[in-house]
Parts: sequence; C-alpha cells; structure tokens
Amino acid sequence: MLYAILGTSRMEEAMVKAIVGANWGDEGKGKITDMLAEESDIVVRFQGGSNAGHTIINEYGKFALHLLPSGVFYQHTTCIIGNGVALNIPYLQKEIDSIVSQGVPKPNILVSDRAQILMPYHIDFDAYEEERLGGKAFGSTKSGIAPFYSDKYAKIGFQVSELFDEDTLKEKVARVVEQKNIMLEHMYHKPLINADELLETLHEYRDIVKPYVCDTALYLNNAIKEGKTVLLEGQLGTLKDPDFGIYPMVTSSSTLAAYGAIGAGIPPYEIKDIITVVKAYSSAVGAGAFVSEIFGEEADELRKRGGDGGEFGATTGRPRRMGWFDCVASKYGCRMQGATDVAFTVLDVLGYLDEIPVCTGYEIDGEVTTDFPTTAQLEKAKPVLEKLPGWKSDIRGIRNYEDLPEACRNYIDTIEQEIQVPITLVSNGPGREEIIHRESKLK
Ligand code: GDP
Repeated sequence: MLYAILGTSRMEEAMVKAIVGANWGDEGKGKITDMLAEESDIVVRFQGGSNAGHTIINEYGKFALHLLPSGVFYQHTTCIIGNGVALNIPYLQKEIDSIVSQGVPKPNILVSDRAQILMPYHIDFDAYEEERLGGKAFGSTKSGIAPFYSDKYAKIGFQVSELFDEDTLKEKVARVVEQKNIMLEHMYHKPLINADELLETLHEYRDIVKPYVCDTALYLNNAIKEGKTVLLEGQLGTLKDPDFGIYPMVTSSSTLAAYGAIGAGIPPYEIKDIITVVKAYSSAVGAGAFVSEIFGEEADELRKRGGDGGEFGATTGRPRRMGWFDCVASKYGCRMQGATDVAFTVLDVLGYLDEIPVCTGYEIDGEVTTDFPTTAQLEKAKPVLEKLPGWKSDIRGIRNYEDLPEACRNYIDTIEQEIQVPITLVSNGPGREEIIHRESKLK
C-alpha cells in the first residue's frame, strides 16, 4: 500500500529482506540472492548447512555455494553465518579457499558465537542411518544435517562459543562421546569415536573459526539501528520445512522467512520484504509425494533443458524429479512464507513446448481442492491439469516485460492469479542480468 502511494518499489524501501523458496528448493534462489546481495550491506544465512547448493554465475565464473552466504562476491557486503545454521567448519574453510582460488577477493565473514558445530560424527550417523533404513531411506544428502539438529534440540550439540572454554569442552566431549559410542556399538555396529582425537579435531576447528566469531545478533541489531540493508538468505523451500513441508520428507531446520528472525537473531517485525522464489515448473529431490510429477521422455526432456545445463542436484549430482508447475503447492508455499513479492524463475526453459500443462487442483477421494493438504492426503492426490498455450520461442535476451511473447505473459498472469502474490521479477536465464521487472496486476 505504502509503496503504491510513494511510487517506489517495496524492495528498495525496506531494511531487512528475506529471500526464500516456495517449492522444494532449487528454484533459482542463488541468482536472485546474488542480485539482491549487490544492494545489501549484510547477507545472512539463517538455517540449514552445506546440504543444499546455490548456483551463481558472475564475472568470476560459475560457483555452487553450499554454506557461504551469496554476498561473498561483493567487497561491500558482510556475510554472516547465523546462529540457526549447521556450521561445518572444515567445509567453511574449504569453500572460502575455493572461491579465493578462483579469483574472488577474500570475503568479509562473521560467524555467530551461538551457531552450533556440525561434528564429524553427524556425517557418519547420517550415512549409517540411511544404510540402516535401506529402501525406506529419506534420501538424505548425508551432510549430517538431521543428526546435527537432533543433537541441538537434545541439548548435546556444541556451540561455537564452547570451543573457547577448554574445561567445559573437555568434559562435554567425554560425556557426548560416551553416549554416541553406545549407539555406534549397539545400534549401528560401527567404529567407535575416540574422545582425545575428537578434542584434537575441535581444537583445529577453534583455530579455523576464531577470526570470524562474534555476537552476530548484536552486530545485526546495531546494523539495523544504523539503517543498514540486511538480506536473509533461505535455503531449500516451503515444502521442505519441518512443520509446513511434506513431513517427514523435509529438512531438519525451518525454511520459512519467519525463522530468519530466530536464525539470525533479529526482531521478527524487522523483516519487511519476503521475496519468494517460484520456479516456472517443478523439480524435487529425494523421496516423497510429488503430485504434478512427470515421467519418461517428457520428464527427460524437461530435465535436460532445465536450470542451467540440466536439473541435477548441486550437492549430490542426482537427477532431479520433474513436474509441471503446481499452483496448489506454490500458492501454499508463498502463503506460508508470507510472500510479499514473487521472483518467477527459469521461465526460458519452457520455450520448447507447444502447450504447457499446469496443475491447478488436487483431486483427493473424488473431490478437487486447491488447498495443500497434509502428507497422508497428499499421497492420494491426483493432479488436475490445465493446458496453457506455449510461446515456442527463446525468450532469453529479452529485458522488457512488454517484449515477451503474449502467450508467455499469459502464462505469468495466469500463475499470478493462481498464487495471489505479485510477480515482480521474472528470470529468463541463469546470468545476473537476465532479469525482467514486472508491474503486478494484483492490487
Ligand atoms: P537454489 O537452490 O534455489 O539456490 O537454486 P539454484 O541457484 O541452484 O538454481 C538452480 C539452477 O537454475 C542453477 O543452475 C541456476 O544457474 C539456474 N537458473 C537460475 N535462474 C535461471 C533462469 O531464469 N533460467 C535458467 N535457464 N536457469 C536458471
């Protein structure tokens, strides 16, 4: 409302923005975040760990970031690993070294003293549990995320601050190792953890992370008071949220913008803009219900053309499951994020289709609904598909909305009506400049 009166974009006005996904992840958040990071003073990762990847293409080359915030390519930004993140310390070091070796100037990084440490045994336990579950496995990326968050909430996690208190650390290592070894010996029948070696590893972690550690919540609160622009960078999407996603085929930390307040340590009312990334078709990784999924040649074709060089996992390289745009899931995905703007991405990929099916409803037990259900109901849902005309042309290179083919604009308008959130950005290529600003038709 205010922005309409002032005639300015909401995105320019607010100080804290969140950028999050409405779907299963891989919506193209990396590119949009990179774009918005340029206008930000601070970029914060607030949840997840190194289990998902953002792809960013810029003047330095092509990067798949897993743990570092997307602001690392800009000298004027400070990048924060917030308290909500699963901090894999050697991975952090590896990722910093890797971008620096590709010519990126050393980024300004801060790590929350309250972030918890992803321990080497979290990765082992993740793999052991998937092995134990066999065919019923969750399709974990085996980055240790589920064991990490389990330990955090079971209150046996290690906070970064604890690395700097040797007596407490030593005592805690002994206590936790005792518990872990019972599990390793009796449940998984795997090699035990040596407490002295683990303590040694934690000393190495302490030395690596020390230059970056501070009270990032305090830093952020001061920055907000000074009028700095902060970008909260989400990983994955609504449908992977442990509460509102397709439980249990979810990740272990909240993927919602609201959690940005907690995972960064800022007041919730400071988050003014929630830019939600929605992909022009669907893709998912791992197991679980996927109503608009397609198979066979139809899926292969979309997978091959999708994203930038095909729809394959940025972390695992696994082929992604493919589907048509799902209005039900995306409307819900936006609602649970509290989306204020939608960035509609990867639209260029659909240019080969004569007609483009979109899923406008779910048929469950003979009834059609447009409200996203809980998992047991979702398993029974069949897609109600409508076909929209294709535009049969390459839209990459177009910079003005009016220059898009009519059928393409119609596709965007139809989806905006379905999801009921203003689509203000349209992405038509993986590059930073491949973006179109759009006046929303929603009031
Ligand atoms: P994230 O997990 O949401 O961050 O997803 P990624 O950033 O990994 O994006 C998925 C893929 O889509 C990457 O290969 C991007 O380079 C690519 N991508 C992003 N936006 C577009 C777009 O508008 N068009 C095309 N063709 N590819 C895109």
